[in-house]
Amino acid sequence: MSLAAVLHLMLHVLVPGPVAWIFFRTRWRRAWIILLATMLVDLDHLLTTPIYDPDRCSIGFHPLHTLPVIAVYIFLTLLPRTRLIGLGLVLHMLLDFSDCAVQRGFADALSRLH
Ligand SMILES: [Zn+2]
Repeated sequence: MSLAAVLHLMLHVLVPGPVAWIFFRTRWRRAWIILLATMLVDLDHLLTTPIYDPDRCSIGFHPLHTLPVIAVYIFLTLLPRTRLIGLGLVLHMLLDFSDCAVQRGFADALSRLH
């Protein structure tokens, strides 16, 4: 596994921490765990072969990483009961998008959303 892949995975674990701390201060541990649990969205990688490809951009490729589904994640952030789950999923998509942008450039990553 490349250093970039390890860094990407670490960001998926670490970034939700400060987000939970800043926005859900009184129950930040619970919030962080829920945000981390949204990493389960990567189960859609199991539908592809190979399951993991460091050179593949998840955005626009895996079914739960496509624009219509991302729109649902954004909608979930608007509802109090699903806000944390939606936030975790949106964060996940932003991190995957940033990984694509680093790999292939911002314009290419953006074109995957169409
Ligand atoms: Zn992902």
